[in-house]
Amino acid sequence: MKIRVIGRWGAYPKRGEATAGFLLEIGNHKILLDCGSGVLSALQNFIELNELTTVFLSHNHFDHMADLGCLQYACLIDMDLKQRNNPLRLLISKENKEEWTIPAMKGTFEKGVNQSTIMTFEDGFTLTFFQTNHDVYCLGVRVAYEGKALVYTADTRYDETLVPYLKDADLLITEASFYANFDAAQYGHMNSSEAGKLASKAGVKKLLLTHLPHFGDIQLLREEAALMFKGEVVLAECGLQVVI
Ligand SMILES: [Zn+2]
Ligand SMILES: [Zn+2]
Repeated sequence: MKIRVIGRWGAYPKRGEATAGFLLEIGNHKILLDCGSGVLSALQNFIELNELTTVFLSHNHFDHMADLGCLQYACLIDMDLKQRNNPLRLLISKENKEEWTIPAMKGTFEKGVNQSTIMTFEDGFTLTFFQTNHDVYCLGVRVAYEGKALVYTADTRYDETLVPYLKDADLLITEASFYANFDAAQYGHMNSSEAGKLASKAGVKKLLLTHLPHFGDIQLLREEAALMFKGEVVLAECGLQVVI
């Protein structure tokens, strides 16, 4: 499987960039993990929108789903133009139906997922969802395929109860919203040092830091995480692709 960074910023996108978004290519599927602000535009540097088969939305904060409405319009147009064969599947994190309602639209269909959901696809890969520790209901996802695993936590505080879901992953994509020694938990997030510590506790092979802050020297985040985690640490960058 291949995963590409489409957007790496927390809260809002920097000029010409995007907030949370990752393109997962696996089997015959192209799956977007989160669809934040700027993602729809940036994604088209790599694929056509009608190639997307599934979108997973971790939670209903705008930096993870702001571009969803326009993506739905794109699917509607592509269906009418017969440029999309199948409607786009939207995997929406929901515990209670009233939490988050997406308008039904031709070209997309919604499937609610929660922390108990396990989805096995005909191509032989599995998506397992787990609840993170955030201010609203938020899901992370573990993708398993051909003996390899990748985990995307979306937004979370440092929480060691997540370790079993992250365990021994080949790649962990997690957030470093602040620099070390800053109390990130008060905002529902993790700092760089906590990201490294979580990666270390889970014994993952590689750590990709994302959901980056808009101040300071972001290269420092990598150095701070590396003090806590002995594996490879990479800072997210738009277009960066990791093959697992
Ligand atoms: Zn966020
Ligand atoms: Zn959030």
